[in-house]
Amino acid sequence: MLRNDQLDQWDRENFFHPSTHLAQFARGEAPNRVITGGSGSHIEDRDGNRLLDAFAGLYCVNVGYGRQDIAEAIATQARELAYYHAYVGHGTEASITLAKMIMDRAPKGMSKVYFGLSGSDANETNIKLIWYYNNILGRPEKKKIISRWRGYHGSGLMTGSLTGLELFHKKFDLPLAQVIHTEAPYYFRRANPDQTEAQFVAHCVAELEALIEREGADTIAAFIGEPVLGTGGIVPPPAGYWPAIQEVLQKHDILLIADEVVTGFGRLGTMFGSDHYGMTPDLITIAKGLTSAYAPLSGSIVSDRMWKVLEQGTDENGPIGHGWTYSAHPIGAAAGVANLKLLDELDLIANNRNVGGYLNRGMAEALGDHPHVGEVRGEGMLCAVEFVRDRDSRTFFDAADKVGPQVATALGGLGVIARAMPQGDILGFAPPFCLTQDEADEVIHKTAKAVKSVLG
Ligand code: PLP
Repeated sequence: MLRNDQLDQWDRENFFHPSTHLAQFARGEAPNRVITGGSGSHIEDRDGNRLLDAFAGLYCVNVGYGRQDIAEAIATQARELAYYHAYVGHGTEASITLAKMIMDRAPKGMSKVYFGLSGSDANETNIKLIWYYNNILGRPEKKKIISRWRGYHGSGLMTGSLTGLELFHKKFDLPLAQVIHTEAPYYFRRANPDQTEAQFVAHCVAELEALIEREGADTIAAFIGEPVLGTGGIVPPPAGYWPAIQEVLQKHDILLIADEVVTGFGRLGTMFGSDHYGMTPDLITIAKGLTSAYAPLSGSIVSDRMWKVLEQGTDENGPIGHGWTYSAHPIGAAAGVANLKLLDELDLIANNRNVGGYLNRGMAEALGDHPHVGEVRGEGMLCAVEFVRDRDSRTFFDAADKVGPQVATALGGLGVIARAMPQGDILGFAPPFCLTQDEADEVIHKTAKAVKSVLG
């Protein structure tokens, strides 16, 4: 086994880490951590620390760490057939079974699933399918995509454009011209403090209507949104938001992509966020929870309505010109089958509802009255604590004060991992669905302690 100092040196000399301050890391000013194992809600690092992972990796290890059933399924698949492609009608028992399992669980009105590897590439697929769809329907001008500020949809060229966070655009020449952004359904940060939730929803709708009017409905193909804003701050929508938005989209014949990379397969306590909020999307993006990240796999679930046009397109133009070498990779598919079975067998979505509710209530009780906590919010097994300089005037700390990251670091020191969300001082929690009530108590108590240590 390599020595820790050797690994540290190789890491800093050779490894380009994503979402990392490259210069600080290379200079040794930012910490590294080498993870060696995990079980249930905990991970272990090379220095012998055991940490409660209250963010499930990147909200993806939904069934928890160390699941031998999934490891076995991967190993068996690798021994039997590690790879074959899915082009021109090829497949494996694992990929066909997984497609069936996904469609059995998908919201009504959905037809087929296309497999990719990441949430980003699945959203790239979605945009291509939408452009193809409108070309087949003879509306070549109807191509723009509306996304929300603070939405997160990936970090490719198109998906990084869809993402509505400054860090993902700045110095990358993004967003691309086909992407336009509208208001985030973030009631806590509303510009007008006197607005009720219902008035704020009406405001979001009016903003969307105005954008469509400015750009022209005949130039707009689709609207993309996460049922609950994730990386943008873990923000459940105000009541009535989705039905009101969908009414506008339907009026202007604009397709809806529900990006369920975080919410798909149970994170909100229902199989899909679309079910949770009564959304009727034309495409659904899935990734993380599909395999609980035991292997990379994503998907685009296509509605009946779109599928008919895609079929027409291939009758007119030949095979669809879209595919990745690793689409429906058998190892990812085997992981997905074993993962979805485990979700059912262990009734993990019900546990998620119960313990997620407990976590949210407990966090609100512990921190709701703190003078520097503006809001504790959440849904299912998602929870966020947002810090403010002053509660009454809802003023925020300067980003340079790094209050959110400081609290996350203090909490890490107490043995609990939460995520300082990238925009705003927001501490995010998205534990594995197998979190126990005792573990939820530990997260709550240690968070309160960490907040006290930073903010008094
Ligand atoms: N969509 C959502 C809602 C996400 O949260 C993410 C990643 O966090 C993505 C898309 C991108 O997925 P990936 O990082 O697998 O490309």
